Order: sequence, then C-alpha cells, then structure tokens
Amino acid sequence: MSAPSTPPSLEEFAAAARAWLAERYPAAPASEGKRRFVWGEGSDEVRVFQEPDPATEADALAGIRRWRAGVWEGGYGWITGPTEYGGAGLPGAYQGAFEQVSRQFDVPGDSSLTIGLGMIAPTIVKHGTEDQKQRYLPALYSGEKIACQLFSEPGAGSDLASISTKAVRDGDVWRISGQKVWTSGAHISDVGEIICRTAAEPRHKNLTAFLIDMHAPGVTVRPLRQMTGDAAFNEVFFDDVVVPDADRLGAEGEGWTIALTTLANERNAMGHSSFGGVGILSTERLAGLVRNQDLAGDATVRQEFGEVVSHLRSARYVNEVIAAQARAGQPPGAEIGLSKIALSDNMRRLGEFVGEVLGPELVADTGEWGTYAWSSLVLGAPGYRLGGGSDEVLKNTVAQRVLGLPRAT
Ligand SMILES: Cc1cc2nc3c(=O)[nH]c(=O)nc-3n(C[C@H](O)[C@H](O)[C@H](O)COP(=O)(O)OP(=O)(O)OC[C@H]3O[C@@H](n4cnc5c(N)ncnc54)[C@H](O)[C@@H]3O)c2cc1C
Repeated sequence: MSAPSTPPSLEEFAAAARAWLAERYPAAPASEGKRRFVWGEGSDEVRVFQEPDPATEADALAGIRRWRAGVWEGGYGWITGPTEYGGAGLPGAYQGAFEQVSRQFDVPGDSSLTIGLGMIAPTIVKHGTEDQKQRYLPALYSGEKIACQLFSEPGAGSDLASISTKAVRDGDVWRISGQKVWTSGAHISDVGEIICRTAAEPRHKNLTAFLIDMHAPGVTVRPLRQMTGDAAFNEVFFDDVVVPDADRLGAEGEGWTIALTTLANERNAMGHSSFGGVGILSTERLAGLVRNQDLAGDATVRQEFGEVVSHLRSARYVNEVIAAQARAGQPPGAEIGLSKIALSDNMRRLGEFVGEVLGPELVADTGEWGTYAWSSLVLGAPGYRLGGGSDEVLKNTVAQRVLGLPRAT
C-alpha cells in the first residue's frame, strides 16, 4: 500500500471506502445501532466479555481474518500507519471516516484483534527494530497474526515488576520458563508480548520484553473459566521455550519501559472500544427493561434510571473528546485512567440498577426474554475493575500524575 501523492479529501476517501465495502459486503441489517430497539426482538444477550464456544469462535475468527486480509489488500488495513510498513499514511480523521462508513455494512469487525492492534502493534511501532516492524506490523494488521499480552503472573499483577518468569540468554537465543495468567485471547494468538526477568536486580531494570511464538514447543495454553461460565482468558506455561534474540523487544533490561508503553495503549484501547463501558447496551434496552417490569411510573426507579443514563452519557462524551484528540495526533496521558475507572464504575452502577429492577428474575431463569440475560453483565462486570489495571491502582496514578498529589507510602 503506498500513500497517494495528494491525499484524497475526506469526502472522496469516504465515498471510495463506501463503494469498496458495497462491492464486498451486504448492507448492515437493521441492528440496534440503526433501528430503535424493540423489546423482545432479536437476541437478549448483554455479555460484557466475548466468550463464544470454541466452534463458534473458530468460525468467527476465520471471518475476521478474511475481513482483515481484505481491508489490508484494499488499502484500508492501517489507514494511519507509515507507508513503509504497509500503512496508508493518512491522518486519524480518515480512520474515523472509514469506521463510520463500515458501520453501514455487515462486516465482521476487529473485536478479537483489540489487543494486537490496540496494544502490541503500537508498542512494536515505538520500540521494535526495523526487522521486527517489517515482520510483525503487516502480519498483525492483515489478520495473519493475532497477538496477546503476557504480563500478569500468579504472584504479580498490579505489582508487575515482581514477575518471576525468567529468560536466560544462550548464544543467539533466549530460553524462557515460567507462568503467565489471565492472558486474554492466548488460545487464539500466534504471538505474545512477554515481559521476563533477565537479571536478579535492580528492580525495574531487570526485565526484558520479547515477542514470543505462541505455537513454539514448550508453550502450553490452558483456558480459565470465569464466573460467567465461559473462558475468555487463560493461564500460559513456558517450559524452556526458545526465542531468537531477534525477537527481543527493546534493549535488555528495558522491559519495564516497554511494558509501560503497552499499558498506556491498553487504557487507551479500553476507553475507546468501550465509550464508557456500555457500547453493548442501548438506553432503549434499559428503558425497555424498566417498562417490562412495570416500573416506569416508579419515582425511585425513574430517578435511578436518569442517574445511570447520565453517567453513561457523560462517560461517552469524555471518551469522544479523547478519541477526537487522539485522531488529531494528541495521545492521551495518565488521565486516560479516568475513562477506565468510569467504565468499571458504570458497569457496577448498571449491575446494581438491573438487580433492583429485576429482583429474583436476575438469578432465576424463567425463560422470559430480557430478564435472566442480564446476569451475564452482573457476573462479568467485576472483571473490569481489574483488567487493564485495577481501579485502585489507576486512582493512585491519577492522584499522582494528573492531580500532582504526593505518592502514597
Ligand atoms: C478480564 C481480564 C482480562 C485480563 N487480561 C489480561 C491479559 O490479557 N494479559 C495480562 O497480562 N493480564 C491480564 N489481566 C490481568 C490484570 O492485568 C490483573 O488482574 C491486574 O493487573 C491486577 O492484578 P491481580 O489480579 O494480580 O490483582 P492484585 O494486584 O493482587 O490486586 C488485588 C487487589 O489489591 C489492590 N491493590 C494492589 N496493589 C495496590 C496498591 N498499590 N494500592 C491500592 N490497591 C492495590 C488491587 O486494586 C486489587 O483490588 C486480565 C484481568 C482481567 C480481569
């Protein structure tokens, strides 16, 4: 893909993208985004994690890979990316325009690729060698490779610097042994960004990052079942896994810096993908629930409904501002933590509200449309308090780095 010498106007670009999509994909069905929500019609799922059964997931994944390969070929795979790595070299507004146009078509989307495209690829862009950029960036953006984040361990989550998975140098290769945990999407990934301990000390200077082949001998991925009943993340074991030095990401001992880049991208990706956490829900669905339970006239429920919706809307507007700034080339700072905190707060708020409205129907499946289905939100929501950095840790970060408060002792 090479950048046109004179970039098209935004309107020309959107028109060409629309024509390209129309040739390949049917128009989007009247979905929740297009049509007013009608209580009782369609699926009543309100899942906050993607947890399909393995067969459904494999099917969906094949479609997602085809979609990515198609957009890559068509020149829309990495609209803002540098042309030397296959990007189109266009400003962020063009990416926004493409996303807007593609919502009009029934396309698979990039849901399984959030970690690879939102977190790992930007880290490679910032810290990778020329060879790594050439090998990994086109492969990630074209859907050939899916990536996961191998940071957390049984004894190291918030305190990431305490990880114990070891990488030991052996000539031109490194040998990695240890265990990671809570690795979202490890079971569908081809490559992982892993942080390992490469020296005993000093703390924060003894870690090194690598890109590891998830299909290499010695890598074992075991699904972990969540309380929602499904398994979206995994524990991953490394038994003397050989990684070429050419796949070391950044300098030896610089793993902490690399990890911080990925974590900043994680908060950014979470905020953008969620828009305050409830892109999955429409206000109409929530209002439908209240009406269905015959509570639309209840003064307390009405007030609480207003509060929940106000919180959702204000989180969405804040995230829209952050997204617009990012498109204009102004990446968010530590304040991005606020959008993740709003996300998990809103999940909790929603869970409490639906619990109050549904009462026992939230926990006992009567088969009635749109009632028990909400239990999946209530069971999935607590995970958002931890994933992407726990709320407490993010609040500490915001206190220190945004508000300038002293470090807690
Ligand atoms: C849905 C989900 C997906 C995830 N996906 C991934 C993934 O793909 N890759 C990956 O590497 N990890 C992943 N994680 C792990 C996630 O990053 C960790 O759960 C998180 O970093 C917290 O670590 P921990 O679970 O070990 O909890 P701990 O660090 O043990 O924290 C336990 C509690 O103590 C509190 N706490 C800890 N330290 C402090 C402090 N200094 N001040 C105040 N309170 C503190 C925390 O807020 C929390 O409430 C995922 C987690 C979830 C829930």
